[in-house]
Amino acid sequence: MDTPFPDVPALAGNAALAARDLRHVWHPCTQMHDHERIPMVPIVRGEGAWLIDADGRRYLDGISSWWTNIFGHGNPRLAAALADQAARLEHVIFAGFTHEPAIALAEELVRITPPGLDRVFYADNGSAAVEVALKMSFHYWLNQGHGEKTRFIALSGSYHGETLGALSVSDVALYRKTYAPLLLTPILAPSPDAHEGEPGELPAHVAARRLDELRSILERHAHETCAVIVEPLVQCAGGMRMYHPDYLAGLRRLCDEFDVHFIADEIAVGFGRTGTLFACEQAGAEPGSAAAGVAPDFMCLSKGLTGGTMALSAVLTTESVYAAFYAEYNAGKAFLHSHSYTGNPLACRVALETLAIFREEPVLERNRVLAAHLARRLAPLREHPHVADVRQTGMIAAVELVADKRTRTPWPSTERRGMRVYLHGLQHEALLRPLGNVVYFMPPYVVTTDEIDHLVDVALAGIEHAVA
Ligand SMILES: *Cc1c(COP(=O)(O)O)cnc(C)c1O
Repeated sequence: MDTPFPDVPALAGNAALAARDLRHVWHPCTQMHDHERIPMVPIVRGEGAWLIDADGRRYLDGISSWWTNIFGHGNPRLAAALADQAARLEHVIFAGFTHEPAIALAEELVRITPPGLDRVFYADNGSAAVEVALKMSFHYWLNQGHGEKTRFIALSGSYHGETLGALSVSDVALYRKTYAPLLLTPILAPSPDAHEGEPGELPAHVAARRLDELRSILERHAHETCAVIVEPLVQCAGGMRMYHPDYLAGLRRLCDEFDVHFIADEIAVGFGRTGTLFACEQAGAEPGSAAAGVAPDFMCLSKGLTGGTMALSAVLTTESVYAAFYAEYNAGKAFLHSHSYTGNPLACRVALETLAIFREEPVLERNRVLAAHLARRLAPLREHPHVADVRQTGMIAAVELVADKRTRTPWPSTERRGMRVYLHGLQHEALLRPLGNVVYFMPPYVVTTDEIDHLVDVALAGIEHAVA
């Protein structure tokens, strides 16, 4: 058959829109040349966990549309809240002016996040939230007379976004190499990633060992360090690397001891993704105990915050950080950061509705059932000759494919095995988008167990196809 898209002939029916797209649109995280062979998929509609393209083909959204969508596409509650707000007030300058959705959202975020996080600063995407946290931490120390603190500690394999500050504290080799001349130099601490431990070493032991290493880094660098920034429990973009919650409790103690801030980037893991509303809640206590969890000095939120409907982010911090900026105008201590769309009422209103769903429905309980089902379905993969690891934290599960199971040697990245899984998914009604050779599952919480079965079945066949 003559088709403009040799790699995915089944999707060629979308060709007209895909060809128009390629004339003017430049997509993120994409080598546009790939799309000479692979069609862009033009989506016209979403329904729960499904996306529907211009040809009427369906795709189960196994990655929550880049980890944002938690309550399904076309969610009627979120759509109604958005429409209602759009008819009242779509936007207003957020300096000197305020509005009910932003106030109510701040109240609710303070109520549901760990104790002590009593101040809310809005931005409009995850990277911007990270920029805010980094600048605020630096500026706090400056206002306290510690202008010598200018550096940040990040974990190896971390990802905190792609604007220059956020990229500076990210450890993604390709990005760092390319943009190195523009970036701050972070101090990298070894990741507590359990998969990186010695053979047979327990995740808690890896965490303890990594904390010892962090201690010696702090002994050398705390005097020049503003903050340690981490993705609690799961380093998502770095390959769904998971670690023991003890690390977070130990990190809190070390940050207190060495007088540096703790920035928790819960942009991907917040809002129920890891099994608790926030991943920090799992640190250093028995699950379910009232005293569970640690409170960071800054918590960055975005992605699930609006249920995947609007671009919004928030940085929560403590009253004591806030107080360091609070002074007469001429003292010149005010925080310097603003975006045109800061505190957008549409986004705040949809976020409020998202949080109402958490209050009114047994979301976390339902997720526990779904996560257990996903775990059961993936367990047999542990024996697969090309699977080095099957790991899961709540509603994130990942299967790490390797060329050689015994030595855990990956294929050369030029082979793009994960891409084969992606293409297989597109042809079999599933959106799976592996990170390199890590096939992961991060579905919306409205997914059913039957839909999880579909996702896993497609992934299993795609993996066979990819490793062949
Ligand atoms: C996605 C992500 C970001 C960046 O958010 P954007 O909205 O894409 O800028 C930052 N940190 C983490 C942990 C993320 O997963």
